[in-house]
Parts: sequence; structure tokens; C-alpha cells
Amino acid sequence: MTRRFEGDKLLVATHNQGKLDEIAHLLEPYGVTCVGAAEMGLPEPDETGTTFVENARIKAHAAAKATGLPALADDSGIEIDALDKAPGVYTADWAETPHGRDFIMAMGKSHDRLVETGIPEPWTARFCCTLVLAWPDGQDMVFPGVMEGSLVWPMRGSQGHGYDPIFQPQGYDVTFGEMDRWEKNKISHRADAFRKFVAGCFDA
Ligand code: IMP
Repeated sequence: MTRRFEGDKLLVATHNQGKLDEIAHLLEPYGVTCVGAAEMGLPEPDETGTTFVENARIKAHAAAKATGLPALADDSGIEIDALDKAPGVYTADWAETPHGRDFIMAMGKSHDRLVETGIPEPWTARFCCTLVLAWPDGQDMVFPGVMEGSLVWPMRGSQGHGYDPIFQPQGYDVTFGEMDRWEKNKISHRADAFRKFVAGCFDA
């Protein structure tokens, strides 16, 4: 389903100020004002889905229903083929410890599991980001973004966040952790999903 965004206010269903600022900046040329979930006092719904799209839908529809505004949510993670696409929607969960998230540990866990499988390199993998725009009337639109690549070991680079130091995008000989932010933001799974969102809802 295609539906143009005609309003001037978008609820961004995230409590992450960085994400909100980035999306607000992207949509400024279209005359859209972005409001964050924290500003509206929205709770963070449980992400009980088993796919990126299910989790993004849960967040987007909960926010649209609670506020009466069109709401945009995303869900992202890394799929490693030799691990049957794990950690997938559980990417952030693999980093959980009693003292907060530890991505060095999560990257080590990914490598250990790969070694346990006995499957030789190259270990193909992809970063995924699915965006869902939900309207208060219950309709929604889905924009999936992907960056193909491979998992490398040992970790390389200290830029970025999460699993960036072990992901080498296809066609590059550096990891996301070794790329500058500007370059990564041009080719990433998130950039891919946002290009589709803007093309589908604003440029059409
Ligand atoms: P969520 O989308 O906030 O549920 O969490 C996705 C998780 O995937 C994050 O905590 C990161 O660990 C990981 N992730 C998503 N995108 C990236 C990326 O661009 N680089 C590194 N890790 C990422």
C-alpha cells in the first residue's frame, strides 16, 4: 500500500534523542515537525515480535494509537547466515549484562558461536533496519533496509556503535568500525530504509 504523508507532524516512536534528531533533520525540508516518544510521555512497549517488521509494527501502532498522530518506528539488527540468521531481532539482547549492554562481549559471543559451527569463512551477514509508518486509522507502510556484508574477526576499528567493528560491508575492505560516520551513513541499512521511506511518502 502506498500513501503519501500529507500532515505536518510525525511522532517518532523512539526514546533515543540521537535517532529523533537525525530523523527530524531528514524531514525538515518537507515541512514536517518530529515529536519524540519521551516528549509525549509514551511507555516503551515490549518488543515481543520474532521479526524486525513485527517489532517495528508493535512500536509504531502503539504510538499512533496513543497520540492520534502518524508514527514512525524502526527495528534493526544483524543476521549471520551460519548462525541461522541469529542474533537477528535479539541483537541488542545478546549484549545484555546485569550492568548494562556490553557489545565487546556480544561480538565475542557471535565469533565463538561461529567457531562452534565449524563453518569456514567467509561468514556472510547483513545489517537490517525495518521502518514502519503507522497511521492512527490502523493502516501502515513498511520500508525494509539492508546492507550485505560479512562478519570478520578480530574486531577492527573504534568508530560507530554496536557490532560495527566485526561487520565488513560488501565491496569494502574496512569494517563499519573503521569507516567514518558520514560514509557509513550513506551506505547503511538505515540509509537504505530511509531512502525508501522518503521516496514512498514524500517524493512520490
Ligand atoms: P534496536 O533496533 O534498538 O532494537 O536494536 C538493534 C541493535 O542492533 C542495536 O543495539 C545494535 O546492537 C545493533 N545495530 C543496529 N544497527 C547497527 C549498526 O548500524 N551498527 C552496529 N550495530 C547495529
